[in-house]
Amino acid sequence: MATGTEPSDTDARKWEYTTYAPTGEMCPACLKPIKGLERCRRGTLRRPSQPDVVVYRHLGGCPE
Ligand SMILES: [Zn+2]
Repeated sequence: MATGTEPSDTDARKWEYTTYAPTGEMCPACLKPIKGLERCRRGTLRRPSQPDVVVYRHLGGCPE
């Protein structure tokens, strides 16, 4: 009996590498701005029928 062990196509996360955020970028996880030249994690949000959105999130956890 086939069970759902295949990778899900709905996993659109793609947090590939760390980089430095451009000035003024906002972290979508905590909704706080990321300081310029702060190391962060760059990713792409893929949504149906919409262009990819590049987002930057705090690296190693968001500040309290
Ligand atoms: Zn954050």
